[in-house]
Amino acid sequence: MALGDCQGGPAFTHTFYDDFRIIRANLVDKTGFQLTTTNRMNPYVVYIDPQLGHIGRHETEARKQHLTKSIKTATMPMSYVARALETDETRGLMKAVVDGESGQILGFTCLGIEGGEIMSIVQVAMMGEVPYTTLQQAVFAHPKLAESLNNLWGFLKWRGIRSLCSMLSLFRSHS
Ligand SMILES: Cc1cc2nc3c(=O)[nH]c(=O)nc-3n(C[C@H](O)[C@H](O)[C@H](O)COP(=O)(O)OP(=O)(O)OC[C@H]3O[C@@H](n4cnc5c(N)ncnc54)[C@H](O)[C@@H]3O)c2cc1C
Repeated sequence: MALGDCQGGPAFTHTFYDDFRIIRANLVDKTGFQLTTTNRMNPYVVYIDPQLGHIGRHETEARKQHLTKSIKTATMPMSYVARALETDETRGLMKAVVDGESGQILGFTCLGIEGGEIMSIVQVAMMGEVPYTTLQQAVFAHPKLAESLNNLWGFLKWRGIRSLCSMLSLFRSHS
């Protein structure tokens, strides 16, 4: 049994800490709930300037893994984020990858001011399987960076007629 970096895979402190939690719960606490690494989320932040935060699948991964599904992407420059404008730090962009049929968020990347914090908000939405439409309609305090998660989805791109059909069915299911 190997824990942490030496087992390969993403070498992050939070990954190693989750390994520890799993072992403690399964072998020491023996709560009866078997924790596992299956479907474990692997967020990361690169502390460059501005920050790069990422969670879930990149577009290319999503397209490979969901061949039968319609994948949509939304890319929005940080210059569209009110808080970024106010702090005069408008470099970068955010990008989301969405399952066009269910509206589930598959991945999110933010290169921008506090990109890791914005990514963590999206991660919580993904953990709760919250569709992007909920974030689009959420009332976030103004002018917080989170507010950008209202506007990002206006940049969703559709690919082909199949995506158009998905859009219509999603609209019907949320209206
Ligand atoms: C410069 C740097 C920056 C990083 N920044 C981040 C970051 O910002 N965010 C993030 O999530 N991750 C970051 N990481 C990665 C993170 O530090 C590792 O993923 C994490 O520490 C892995 O934990 P671990 O317990 O597997 O290994 P380690 O933390 O390396 O612990 C292994 C321990 O085993 C000990 N050891 C080794 N050989 C023996 C031996 N023969 N006998 C006894 N003890 C031994 C070592 O001394 C060490 O204390 C960074 C790593 C580096 C190098």
